[in-house]
Amino acid sequence: MTLMANRLNDEVMAKSPANQREIAAILETAPARSPFEVAQEQFFYAAEKLGLDEGLTQILAVPQRELRVNFPVRLDNGRIKVFTGYRVHHNNARGPVKGGLRYHPQVSLDEVRALAMWMTWKCAVVNIPYGGAKGGVVCDATQYSQTELERLTRRFTTEISMFIGPETDIPAPDVATNPQTMAWIMDTYSMHRGHSITAVVTGKPLSAGGSLGRVEATGRGVSIVTGETAKTLGMTIEGARVVVQGFGNVGSVSARLLHEMGCKIVAVSDVFGGIYNPKGLNIPALFEYIQTSPSRTVVGFPESEPVSNSELLTLPCEILVPAALEGQLTHENARQVSARIVVEAANGPTTPEADQIFRDRGIYLVPDILANAGGVTVSYFEWVQDRQAYFWTEAEINQRLRDMMINSYAQVHAISQREKVDLRTGAYLLAIGRVAEATKVRGIYP
Ligand code: NAD
Repeated sequence: MTLMANRLNDEVMAKSPANQREIAAILETAPARSPFEVAQEQFFYAAEKLGLDEGLTQILAVPQRELRVNFPVRLDNGRIKVFTGYRVHHNNARGPVKGGLRYHPQVSLDEVRALAMWMTWKCAVVNIPYGGAKGGVVCDATQYSQTELERLTRRFTTEISMFIGPETDIPAPDVATNPQTMAWIMDTYSMHRGHSITAVVTGKPLSAGGSLGRVEATGRGVSIVTGETAKTLGMTIEGARVVVQGFGNVGSVSARLLHEMGCKIVAVSDVFGGIYNPKGLNIPALFEYIQTSPSRTVVGFPESEPVSNSELLTLPCEILVPAALEGQLTHENARQVSARIVVEAANGPTTPEADQIFRDRGIYLVPDILANAGGVTVSYFEWVQDRQAYFWTEAEINQRLRDMMINSYAQVHAISQREKVDLRTGAYLLAIGRVAEATKVRGIYP
C-alpha cells in the first residue's frame, strides 16, 4: 500500500461520522488510484483487521504469475494488426486458477491484476476450490467482424496456451466476450492437444460442453443476494425502485430477474446512454426493443426519457446495481446516490472513497466478490460436469446456485455483524482467512 493510501486509511478510519466535512476534505485531496491500487488497498485494510502476519500479507498482496503477449492478426482487408493481451494468475493456493477474459480498449496489466486478485477472494467467499486469474486483450471488439474476432481469439489462445488448462487455469467470459468466444478457445486448445478438452474454459455454448444456467448465472446470483439483503434490512422487494448501469450479460439478466421478483426497474443504461421512467420500465418490451435496434442499445426505448450514465447513478431509487465497469461510484458522486442498497454486479465499481461515504451515510453495499459470484459458481458447476461427462438439469443447477449464494451471504453477513464491519470487509475477512489458511497449511516451497 502506498504511504498516501496508508495515511488516507488511518485518517479516515480515525474520524467519527460526525466530522464528515473533514473526511470529505481528506478524500478529495487523495490521488486517483488505479484498479490494482484499489484492490490492494481493500486487501491491506482487511488483512490488518484479520491480523494476518507479514509474510502472508506479502504473498497475497501481489500476483503469482503474469504473462503479456503481443500477437499478429490478419484483418479482413488483408492488413496485419498486432494486439496486446494479458493473463495473470493471482494465487493458486486453493486449486486451479479461474477468471474471465475481457476484450476492451481500457484493458491494462494493472486492471487485469486487480481483477485477478478479486477472483481469488470471490472463489474463496463462495468456497469453490479455485484461485484467481484474469485476462484480456486491448481492443474495441465492436470494431471487428466475427471472422476477425475468431482469428484474434484463436491466436490469443495459442499465445497463452502454456498458461491455461483444465487443471491449471480455466478462462470464462467477461466484458465483450461470450459463449462463442469460449467455443473458439476450447476448439483451439483441443486442436493443439489432438482431442476435445471441454473443461479448459467455462461459459461455453450448451452444444460444446456448456452448462444450463451459465449465461444467466451472474445476474441470477445478483438477484438472489439482493433479495437476501432486502430481508436483512426488513425492506419489501416488491415495488422497490431499481437502477441498473450496464445492460450486457450481467445487467440485463439482473434487471429481468429483479423485475420478475416484483421490483420496479426505473432506469437502465449501456455504453450509448441511459433511459428513465419513474413509473417503471416495461422490461420484456425493452428486451424486444433491443433485438430490433441495429446497435442493440437501450437508447431510444419508447415511454422513457434519456439520461446520461452519470445522472443515472444518482436517480431516486432504493436499489442501485452498477453492472458495467470499475470506478463508477467515486467521491464525486457518492454523496448524491439516493439508493439505500448498492449491489455491485460489476467488478470494482466503487472506489474506497465512495465506500467510506456510503458507510458514513448508512448505505448498505453488497460487495462484488459476493454479489457477482454466481457466475464463477455456475462456471465451477460447468467444469465439474465436463470432468464427469455427466450433465445436471437446470433446476438442479439453479437450486445449487441459490443454496450457495444464500449460504455465502449469510456467512458474510454474520462475520460483518460479529466484527462490526461493513459487508465488503466481512467478505474479505472470510475470503482472505480461507486463502491464508490454505497457504499456511501447504507451507512455503521448498
Ligand atoms: P457485457 O460486455 O456483456 O456488458 C457490459 C455492459 O456495460 C454493456 O451493456 C455495455 O454497453 C455497458 N457499458 C460499457 N461501458 C459503459 C459505460 N462507460 N457506462 C455505462 N455502461 C457501459 O459485460 P458483462 O459480462 O455483463 O460484465 C459487466 C460487469 O460484470 C464487468 O465488471 C464484469 O467484470 C462483471 N462480471 C461479469 C461476469 C459474467 O459472468 N459475465 C461475472 C462476474 C462479474
